[in-house]
Amino acid sequence: MRGDAFGADFAVEIRERYGDVARDRWPVSVDPRPDELLSSWINRLALANGIAPRPFSGVLGCGDGMWSPCLDLQIPRHIAAFLGDQSGVPQDAISAMALTGWALTPLLLPLRENARRLRSTWMQFCPQCLAQDETPYFRRQWRLASRISCFVHGCGLRDRCPACRSGIVSYDQGELVLQHFCARCGFDLRDAPKVAVKAAARRLERAIADICRVESAKRSAETSDVVLRVRRSPATADIGSARTLTNLSTTARIRCFGELAAKPLDWLVTDKDVAVAHRRWMIAAAGGHNQLIACFANFLDKHQAKPRSTRPTRPSARLADLLTAYFRVTGDRTLSKPHRDLPAQRTRDRGRIL
Ligand SMILES: [Zn+2]
Ligand SMILES: [Zn+2]
Repeated sequence: MRGDAFGADFAVEIRERYGDVARDRWPVSVDPRPDELLSSWINRLALANGIAPRPFSGVLGCGDGMWSPCLDLQIPRHIAAFLGDQSGVPQDAISAMALTGWALTPLLLPLRENARRLRSTWMQFCPQCLAQDETPYFRRQWRLASRISCFVHGCGLRDRCPACRSGIVSYDQGELVLQHFCARCGFDLRDAPKVAVKAAARRLERAIADICRVESAKRSAETSDVVLRVRRSPATADIGSARTLTNLSTTARIRCFGELAAKPLDWLVTDKDVAVAHRRWMIAAAGGHNQLIACFANFLDKHQAKPRSTRPTRPSARLADLLTAYFRVTGDRTLSKPHRDLPAQRTRDRGRIL
């Protein structure tokens, strides 16, 4: 018995036909994009091959709800192998898109389908990144509570559809609609209005990202104390001692970072190892690695009397090497004497983000 062409019978017929066509390998291969989150790639893979994300859950043997965000956290080996066989993408590339074992896991936004106004959702996005993508996709970095703005565009991230206030629920999309359209109301997320974030808050965000990156690379097997301090930072900002950063909406976290930027940086940089504390303080006071390297380059220009144009560029110079060289050249004077180019005007600002 045949039903409405857009009803349940139609859906069953599609799946049977799809099975005939794509028995060995799915027809369309989709390459992962830089920093793409696994669930985002799965959505794109499903849609490219003619299946909406929600029914694609059944193809992988997953259940309802936040099935693909769950795979982000832990993808079973047999699903990674199946996706690899069917898509032609190497299994290790698939596993690399998941978040398993990430040292920044304590900063991941919790999986939450329905979020109240000031509570976090599980995913953020930059409308301008989506607008510039050849095929819009969601980044791994957008899952972190420590991220409030886009490092490329300088605008604030969003965690809700501005039209219906729903979080991102692309895993529940039942139609063949690309994931940059809200799965609840169809709003094009690329058209979301720009969110402004103050420069001081963005500098703090960049410094936190760089410090956490150094810490996580160094101590991948254990959770860094500084990562946990960032997680508890709302208490430091006096905006709700019971709340962790991961529970706050992006709007509330932007406000939190604004408050933190006006406070001394001790909460972030302190460590029992003086060298570690010093390194963190340098990064935080400069507003991140890139700014610190720029300060160091200026310092060398002035103190070695070399025009910058004659200095060979070393884009791949390691921060640790630069810091070591910096301390050697300055003789550690920055601790006792504020330097004009480093925003380390410690005596005046007590380490605030400027
Ligand atoms: Zn962006
Ligand atoms: Zn919406």
